Amino acid sequence: MSDAASTPVAFIGLGNMGGPMAANLRRAGFPVRGFDLSEPACKQAADQGVDIAESARATLAGAKVLVSMLPASRHVESLYLGEDGVLAAIEKDTLIIDCSTIAPASAQKVAAAATARGLAMLDAPVSGGTAGAAAGTLTFIVGGDSKALERARPVLEAMGRNIFHMGDAGAGQVAKLCNNMALGVIMAVTGEAIALGAAHGLDPKTLSAMMAVSTSRSWATEVCNPWPGVIETAPASRGYTGGFGNDLMLKDLGLAVEAAMGIGATIPLGELARNLYALNRTAGRGGLDFSSVVKLVAPEG
Ligand code: NAD
Repeated sequence: MSDAASTPVAFIGLGNMGGPMAANLRRAGFPVRGFDLSEPACKQAADQGVDIAESARATLAGAKVLVSMLPASRHVESLYLGEDGVLAAIEKDTLIIDCSTIAPASAQKVAAAATARGLAMLDAPVSGGTAGAAAGTLTFIVGGDSKALERARPVLEAMGRNIFHMGDAGAGQVAKLCNNMALGVIMAVTGEAIALGAAHGLDPKTLSAMMAVSTSRSWATEVCNPWPGVIETAPASRGYTGGFGNDLMLKDLGLAVEAAMGIGATIPLGELARNLYALNRTAGRGGLDFSSVVKLVAPEG
């Protein structure tokens, strides 16, 4: 892909992740035309220099790359497929990069439809959260053709720091689910461990500081600690707001369970964790950060 100014990007889905990602493309010099069903999301992106189109299809005129960042499989399938889908309207040499976290089978279905139309498509879900999206430090976990990835690289590098090519179409989604399944389990057990210590009268801050330099060290102890007041910048210290939603983690664990069932794999801890985040949703915390799962064992914590 040649230089940024001559590579117009269409960007569909300007939410918590897509908005800052599109803003970083603008900052790197890419002309960006975006669309979102939500007016506030469009307005925020417009404030960052994104040219807002009237519809998803209207972003496509002249675009050399299309990036989508939508909630789930059904949104991605309905955007791309069918008579009204954008695949029917994309110019032949436009590269498609879907950054949403969706089912691997769904990513393969949309990629196959793109291939049938002679279009190159990558699945490129991300890790790094809203902070990584804003800072342009995301990790892209990519599935698809390596030549397409080389074309995508300058666009991905404007939004992230690490790029991993995992294999063919859908492989990026499988790898993303593996990462999030491990994260979901680690977060739940870290909360449980700190709750156990606190119930024995330990100071959660000192306990976490010890764990953070010991063998249970993880992102959950050091960065997104689930106990309020331990890490000032963690969602737990601001009422579990503004992080990675419980319901998004629940979605990802559901996808991991589906992916395991599809090939007869066993993921006992992943299935248990899916149930914990489902219970946390039932308790009314679906919209809060997923670290609020600790409340299941420490309601007063
Ligand atoms: P979000 O709900 O904030 O944003 C999604 C946006 O898509 C919304 O603004 C919605 O209006 C828009 N949308 C839905 N259907 C549309 C359509 N047909 N056309 C145009 N716009 C449409 O979600 P998010 O947090 O930005 O997450 C997006 C994806 O990234 C999800 O798959 C999520 O699992 C994944 N993800 C999120 C995080 C995180 O920390 N939030 C981290 C890594 C990955």
